[in-house]
Amino acid sequence: MTGQHRIVVLGAGYAGLAAARRFASKAPGAQITVVDGLAQYVERVRLHQQAVGQRISQWDLRELLESKGIQFVQAWATEIDTDAARVILDGAPALDYDSLVYALGSKADPAGVPGVAEHAFSVATPEDALQLLEQAATDRMIVVGGGATGIEMAAEAAESRPDSRVLLLSSEEPGAWMSQRARAHVRRVLERLGVEIRSDAKVIEVSAEGVRLADGELIESATTVWTTGFGVPDLARRSGLSVDADGRVLTDATLRSVSHPDVYAAGDSAVVDGPGDRELRMACATALPTGKYAADAVVARMRGREPRKLRFRYVFQCLSLGRRDGVIQFLRADDAPGRTVLTGRTGAWFKEQVVRGAGRAARP
Ligand SMILES: Cc1cc2nc3c(=O)[nH]c(=O)nc-3n(C[C@H](O)[C@H](O)[C@H](O)COP(=O)(O)OP(=O)(O)OC[C@H]3O[C@@H](n4cnc5c(N)ncnc54)[C@H](O)[C@@H]3O)c2cc1C
Repeated sequence: MTGQHRIVVLGAGYAGLAAARRFASKAPGAQITVVDGLAQYVERVRLHQQAVGQRISQWDLRELLESKGIQFVQAWATEIDTDAARVILDGAPALDYDSLVYALGSKADPAGVPGVAEHAFSVATPEDALQLLEQAATDRMIVVGGGATGIEMAAEAAESRPDSRVLLLSSEEPGAWMSQRARAHVRRVLERLGVEIRSDAKVIEVSAEGVRLADGELIESATTVWTTGFGVPDLARRSGLSVDADGRVLTDATLRSVSHPDVYAAGDSAVVDGPGDRELRMACATALPTGKYAADAVVARMRGREPRKLRFRYVFQCLSLGRRDGVIQFLRADDAPGRTVLTGRTGAWFKEQVVRGAGRAARP
């Protein structure tokens, strides 16, 4: 122990990097270490673009972080020994911490549906997106899930390969959470791009032949992309932190673990109370501010102050519909859709600016 406060940030996604950047400016005397299994920072919100062959920017994490005085360790965390306040890494020495920020994000979730893990692709992680790009048959694709990722994936695939057939399957109208105007625009653009939509389809099995629906119908396809939701790494659960049923770290109003006061959590792998008594949803839009806030809360307590509670309100949600169209749904503070919607090229431009801004906000 050198006397320096040792801060370890697990995960170099939007939340982890936002936290690290904040620590670097607010706690210059501390020893800050970021851990990620990947060497490159990849903009996760562009993985559907990467999956169809578009080049997306990547940054070398070591270079990025060390230029700001932050140590980077490329390794997968395998355990948190909470008694010893130590993170065990695969292939690198263990790291002792005084404060830990848990920001391991999320990954594909097969949702318990048989065959998904073996036969479906995903765009949840950079590795998943590359696998889809390199191994998928390109003549026909089934995208399962009418949420934001499914809509963006279907649009991008149809636009980039106009000769292919893309079928979007979901159990409700794609974009069902948005306003009627936004939903109608999504459907119009998907249909214009040639995407076939079936919004009453419940998939109960995926196989090498295709997908099986609840009514018994088999829809043939060599390429199925599963986008119905994300799961989280089980490291927190295995390490004895208090977690919810999905394995996300339970936090208080200052993003501190409810079971371990030297651990904070942010981003997709944290349960964070949001406006309207609802948990914040998994999003870049919530990962950035929670990462930043977690760092502020740690720094406040390092200085003997009690941090103010996290305050968060939603503003808008952006969806790309290929490279030339998009939908921006403005939101009420509690995430309910408001009246204002931007569409078309304006929507595409707005979304691109937001994605670029998020990348800038994360990079230290
Ligand atoms: C295709 C796609 C499009 C999206 N579009 C949008 C959008 O338009 N708007 C929006 O708000 N959200 C969007 N999202 C969701 C958004 O990307 C996530 O909510 C966000 O990335 C979460 O940030 P995070 O920092 O919590 O986790 P992540 O960005 O997932 O980062 C977690 C990091 O932890 C690392 N890690 C994981 N486990 C370990 C371990 N054991 N040891 C070491 N390192 C580990 C990972 O390598 C990763 O770098 C999209 C997601 C996808 C997949």
